[in-house]
Amino acid sequence: MRSLDLPFARAAHDRAAHRRAEPGLLDDLLKEPATRVLVVRGTRVATADQRVAFLAPDDVAHLGARTVLFLGEGADAPEGGAPEGDGTVAYLAVVLADTGRAPGADPVPEPDLDVEWTGLRSLDAPDLEVGLVVEAVALAQWHAVYTHCPLCGTRTEVRQGGWVRHCPADESNHFPRTDPAVIMAITDADDRLLLARGPQWDPGRRSVLAGFVEPGEGLEQAVARETGEEVGITLDPASIEYRGSQSWPFPASLMLGFRARATSTELVRQEDEIAEASWFTRDEVATAVADGHLGLPGRASIARSLIEEWFGGPIGD
Ligand SMILES: [Zn+2]
Repeated sequence: MRSLDLPFARAAHDRAAHRRAEPGLLDDLLKEPATRVLVVRGTRVATADQRVAFLAPDDVAHLGARTVLFLGEGADAPEGGAPEGDGTVAYLAVVLADTGRAPGADPVPEPDLDVEWTGLRSLDAPDLEVGLVVEAVALAQWHAVYTHCPLCGTRTEVRQGGWVRHCPADESNHFPRTDPAVIMAITDADDRLLLARGPQWDPGRRSVLAGFVEPGEGLEQAVARETGEEVGITLDPASIEYRGSQSWPFPASLMLGFRARATSTELVRQEDEIAEASWFTRDEVATAVADGHLGLPGRASIARSLIEEWFGGPIGD
């Protein structure tokens, strides 16, 4: 079976991990005019005309508090001018300091850049750009929260092009984290799809179930446990099938998509997690989306891909 077409799982660059330990890597790349720099604030990226703005090092030299990350190497972006040599350039991200600031902290002034700021979820761009931005935002989200050593509390130093944080007090190294979460399209014996609404969601908005994998647990176990907890149904263990994965850096998830068949249909909601849950036929989904009574997850999400895989094609708009 064909795997899911996942927007954030596309990438067209080489992370070039072997370069991260090169002495002076970032300083050297920031002196190289061909280096392409994207600028990240939180989960937004600098764009121009709906495309990622790849800036030259000189364009970002004036930006204040920031972390520089080495994203890798790739083909030069078309708008970046004529490529030199083999056409491969290095990509950096400059992460501005408002990423992850504590609630109530003074706002950081708008950076002096002639760009727009586009959220990752609404970025509609070629694979090279999306792949670089997903990597940059995910890594930036880690830096935003893992500022101090988990062993001794000392502030850590950024090393290896942003891929290690080092504790100067106890010499420990800390590596970027990503949190696995399962997300599952569950069907009943009549091939109806289970769609649920979280308590904070707008009326009419529905999605498939999802939840974090707990320590000590396998993925299929997490699928079955979360489903049982949230809606009180059991799954046929043999039906739990992995469909694909993509990063979801809001702030640090790796979404692992599954589908599974329920052995029961009576839903018992976990009320603090699930406000509504019910089974939908394909006709019911098509009709409810068309008349505006059902809102589905955004096109960038794995949830949307799982729902449309069940549906058999794109839904609505
Ligand atoms: Zn330490």
